[in-house]
Amino acid sequence: MKRLPHLLAEPDGAGPGRAVDRVLAGRLSAALARPAAQQPCWPDAERAGAVIELLHNAEPIVAPEETARLSARLAAVARGEAFLLQGGDCAETFAGNTEPHLRANLGVLARMAGVLADAGGLPVVKIARMAGQFAKPRSNTVDALGLPVYRGDIVNSPERTAAARTPDPHRMLMAYAHSASAMDLVRKLCAEGIDEPLVALAGARRNAPGEPRFDGGGRAPGPTEFYVSHELLLLDYERAVLWADSGGPEPRLSSGLAHFLWIGERTRQLDGAHIAFAELLSNPIGLKLGPSCTPEEVVEYVRRLDPHRTPGRLTLVSRMGHAQVRELLPPIVEKVTASGHEVIWQCDPMHGNTRTSANGYKTRHFGHVVNELAGFFEVHRRLGTHPGGIHVEVTGDDVTECLGGTAEITEADLPERYLTACDPRFNAEQSVELAFAIAKLLR
Ligand code: PEP
Ligand code: MN
Repeated sequence: MKRLPHLLAEPDGAGPGRAVDRVLAGRLSAALARPAAQQPCWPDAERAGAVIELLHNAEPIVAPEETARLSARLAAVARGEAFLLQGGDCAETFAGNTEPHLRANLGVLARMAGVLADAGGLPVVKIARMAGQFAKPRSNTVDALGLPVYRGDIVNSPERTAAARTPDPHRMLMAYAHSASAMDLVRKLCAEGIDEPLVALAGARRNAPGEPRFDGGGRAPGPTEFYVSHELLLLDYERAVLWADSGGPEPRLSSGLAHFLWIGERTRQLDGAHIAFAELLSNPIGLKLGPSCTPEEVVEYVRRLDPHRTPGRLTLVSRMGHAQVRELLPPIVEKVTASGHEVIWQCDPMHGNTRTSANGYKTRHFGHVVNELAGFFEVHRRLGTHPGGIHVEVTGDDVTECLGGTAEITEADLPERYLTACDPRFNAEQSVELAFAIAKLLR
């Protein structure tokens, strides 16, 4: 496969791939000319342009062969022969891009995957929100102080000053460098084997003696496989590192920045740039579906994003909230099933269950998350479709950001270790407990 920007930089290059590259470049410009939600306004367009030029010459972070292998794994998920576990931080930060943090997050995901594989009797495909999850969509453009909102470390800084919140295109280079080094570490840890956390359960001591508990873990690590993903959000960044991929049914672009990209709830406009950009990619794509999404819209997404009817090309990520999933999901599943496309049905039980605690913390309750998952499994069991995976915000770090679980984290506990840069994550103990709750639903 050849890098698109390098080829375009060749003056009047001939060569067999050249016409295809020109067509792809034209399609890319057309996609990016569409309205794009949630983009920062760089104060100095020239400086932003210079950064994008530099990124055009940067080495890809992921290899196309790895992405192709993930596509094959996801085809198995779509066919009901595997389960997809995707998770990690809501927002990665530059300061948090450390070996202990990455190890902890991979460790808790590996532990969850082991629990799910044992319970479901299916291989578990693991995708981390890692090595590039630096851009965040926001509900408001300014915060309570009237400052521009924090849009993730790739755009600006969370401190409450005008200077910190001013979008700085140089941050895209830092994000690229952090992602590249994180990916190197992911590869190294996967080759070595990843230590899973021995979750010492506070709640286990409160449990009735003899009741089966889940503080075993710690299986001997062997080589394992992880893929990386992030939200396809910041288009100036995403457009900069692309391969021309002529291996599929039509020439497309392959992202060199992540194996898997997903489109968020706030940027899924059918006439917008994000959907048009994703149409051009050969990577597997995820799409978040919130409560306002209609079955008719979803069928249009499926038609646009899976034109060649490739099993597992598209992952539909429902995030309806625990109170609405049983009502809103069935008509969507029925309509997509009738269309004949083999999508992956994945549940994000976090984003539809976010609320503010009495003491002012954005949080989620363990019970609501499990309830949405139970609804998701009920719906798919009833309709005969494969509940193919989950997408969760979790960390192996010992944070206090979400309520409930065996440790019974309360609102008063939240300030203790509320460390997230954006949305609240389950800590290691809550995450492993969640895996055991899902294991019950899988059996
Ligand atoms: C996220 O996954 O962090 C996110 C912002 O999700 P959504 O687009 O579903 O709100
Ligand atoms: Mn989030």
